[in-house]
Amino acid sequence: MKYKSCHWIESGINFDIDSYKVCCLYSAKGGGNTIVQDNYKGEPVDWNKLFEFKEMMREMHKRGETYPKCEGCIYLVEQDWPDEHNKINMINLDYWTKCNSRCSYCHTMLDKERYNKFKNYNFLPILKDMIRRDILRPNGHVSFGGGEVTLLKEFDTLLHMFMDAGFPLTRVHSSCIKYSKAVERGLKEGLVDLIVSVDSGSKEMHKKIKQVNSYNKVWNNLKRYASHQKDPYAVKSKYIVIPGVNDNKEELVLWLKKSKECGINCVYHEIESKWFYARRDNVPDEIIDLFNYTKEKAEEMGLKYVLYERAEHMMEYKHEKEVSV
Ligand code: SF4
Ligand code: SF4
Repeated sequence: MKYKSCHWIESGINFDIDSYKVCCLYSAKGGGNTIVQDNYKGEPVDWNKLFEFKEMMREMHKRGETYPKCEGCIYLVEQDWPDEHNKINMINLDYWTKCNSRCSYCHTMLDKERYNKFKNYNFLPILKDMIRRDILRPNGHVSFGGGEVTLLKEFDTLLHMFMDAGFPLTRVHSSCIKYSKAVERGLKEGLVDLIVSVDSGSKEMHKKIKQVNSYNKVWNNLKRYASHQKDPYAVKSKYIVIPGVNDNKEELVLWLKKSKECGINCVYHEIESKWFYARRDNVPDEIIDLFNYTKEKAEEMGLKYVLYERAEHMMEYKHEKEVSV
């Protein structure tokens, strides 16, 4: 049967520091943040509750309504969806906050000390529970976000488990200040995608945004990772545009050049969250032009240019607006 849905509704779950959700997105006009269980501290997951929640969303969409938090989400598409429900093959992991960087735009900067000391729950028992109950299907993808992944105690064990279980792709977001041999293995075998937000090309801008002296370490580690990638597009350098801080062409071109120099073939472009959420429908033309300019420059240099999640919504909303006038 044809109805509106997304891969997260069909077969995904997101583990956050104090909740589990259908997905990890906030970009849609409806706000995302699809919480199923709040005040969560790693107790056994109530799978029936999760699957009933998903069924409720599906039923709404089959009636032609939209689950309010999914309103305007570009990942909600009308098509034939698989009949098999109550299985999970997409996992997003965001359940820790400890980090070795201090990005100016990060929510953890509100109270860095508390977030760095915050004791997260463990995911390994949950993963074992999924396997025991035959809920896990290793044919989708896993994504590690959260704080800095290489500081998460169970990261190596989990990543090796996902790779050994046959997950075709695990996405790792890292500050890249610390090098990981587990990530290196994933890159060598074509099973890992690495995304590093550098947000700058120059040392000065890097310091201003990251608020730690990590410029050389990050780019050297990126270069080392890129030298191991089986898939030439697996290592991605990302630039989050923070209007008023790094929204200038020179910095963007420096970033593209630096990425290229380090053997990176794919760049991700994103817009800062707080700024975007405050003006989803009202993004000034200068920002749109800056994204279009960067795309053109990246392609001139032979780099694969990809809009990241919020930027993808931003460009789509702009396009919709232009079409409707
Ligand atoms: S917000 Fe988007 S990705 Fe998340 S469940 Fe809704 S439609 Fe899916
Ligand atoms: S690397 Fe990520 S978690 Fe760490 S401070 Fe930056 S945005 Fe926050």
